Amino acid sequence: MTVKRKQIKLEPASQKEKEVERIWAPWRIEYIEMEKPEGCIFCGKPKEKSDELNYLLYRGQKNFVMLNAYPYNPGHLLIAPYRHISSLEELTDEELDEHFRLVRRSLKLLREVFNPGGFNLGVNMGKVAGGGISEHVHTHLVPRWQGDTSFMAALADTKIIPEALSKTYKKLKGKF
Ligand SMILES: [Zn+2]
Repeated sequence: MTVKRKQIKLEPASQKEKEVERIWAPWRIEYIEMEKPEGCIFCGKPKEKSDELNYLLYRGQKNFVMLNAYPYNPGHLLIAPYRHISSLEELTDEELDEHFRLVRRSLKLLREVFNPGGFNLGVNMGKVAGGGISEHVHTHLVPRWQGDTSFMAALADTKIIPEALSKTYKKLKGKF
């Protein structure tokens, strides 16, 4: 018996829809293509004691704040607990409290230093939800500017990014 498959025609998304879907961050191809480091960066980086190299901005009692080395926008921060847990519901009250105090503090700082028009705040839990390092829960905080999709196109050269990162780091370091 043969089953006749119904052909599904996929309509291409309009340009506007595509822009809403994601920020165009072409340098992230480096991240996508690179060999991923062994082990968990959120466990590893705080142990390394080289905060400037790792763009680690602040060490709290239960959580820390670092720059995303492959940012969607300048000032893209990651807030993570030291404990290797995979989901927010595993945070203790103390961890949760400090985690979101650091999110609040980060919002204030980014607003002061970079004056963005808005923010995206997100947590990816589980690989199906788009988590790159889904085993260790972390919160993304991404500043947004009006028209930043086209602004970021100007930064398409990946070589610009490390310099931008250390500048961003210096602007935020010590302010938490
Ligand atoms: Zn971890």
